[in-house]
Amino acid sequence: MPLTRRTLLAATAATAAAHALPAFAAASPVTFRHGAFEVSVVSDGHLVLPTAFLAPDATPEQRAALLKAAGQTGETYDSPTNITLIRSGNDLILIDMGSGDRFMPTAGKLWDNLKAADIDKSKITKVIFTHGHPDHLWGAVDDLDDMTLPNATFYIAGAEWNFWQSDDATRGLPAERAGFVTGARRNYAAIKERVKMFKPGDEVQSGIHAVATPGHTQGHVVLALAGGDGLIVGGDVLTHPLISFAHPEWRPLADHVPEQAVATRKMLLDRLAADRSKLIGFHLPYPGVGTVERKDGAYRFVAAV
Ligand SMILES: [Zn+2]
Repeated sequence: MPLTRRTLLAATAATAAAHALPAFAAASPVTFRHGAFEVSVVSDGHLVLPTAFLAPDATPEQRAALLKAAGQTGETYDSPTNITLIRSGNDLILIDMGSGDRFMPTAGKLWDNLKAADIDKSKITKVIFTHGHPDHLWGAVDDLDDMTLPNATFYIAGAEWNFWQSDDATRGLPAERAGFVTGARRNYAAIKERVKMFKPGDEVQSGIHAVATPGHTQGHVVLALAGGDGLIVGGDVLTHPLISFAHPEWRPLADHVPEQAVATRKMLLDRLAADRSKLIGFHLPYPGVGTVERKDGAYRFVAAV
């Protein structure tokens, strides 16, 4: 079924109702079919980030124009955090786990939003991680460092697991990432008995392949779902609805290996535009579902909702 505004809104009456009421839009999952999967996007809330992180390479005039177009003229801006939940046969598969209780007060809303949608988190059988940043990993434990999903199996790219455990994770760490390493190690320690490693290219679950997309972090992956023209759950390769698409060559401060992240961004944009795949962008405006088109020698994001 093609992903259009109509099919998405028709997916659930609750979703359509929520869109008429912006105050509740982020709390209500958006659900649609993709091939053999039922895919939902559930909000974990949002992050509040310094606007200065977004485009340090841009001239002040370029930055001002793009941020104005994005409605982000203040010192900080709100970055949505969109979690993907996939129903596949008897499995309920979460891609990333949100921020949990200890990152930002505006985030960590995943479990509340699942509950509000009558989705029992204890039914989640598997979790696949794109990378080990706080807003994707720290929901793995609760405020007592106990696992939030004690019965799930956790799938992590070996390169990402190894990076956060290694000395490389702490070497030359920028100030704004202080705490990321201890947080990653705390969460990884809690789930380690239930972790399965994978490599890019592996079929992590039936019809779900991991694609190497290093740069934002050393072992970052996106997940490609089979069916139709494809669907990419994009993690943090494309994090801003205008800048990431119009200027993939700019280097946001959140990327660990900036030049590698630029190459990865261009590769993924080219693939998305060529394949006409759907994209779920973790930090794009909720629910972050859309497609990518070529525009003016670069790209643009076309939201489907
Ligand atoms: Zn993120």
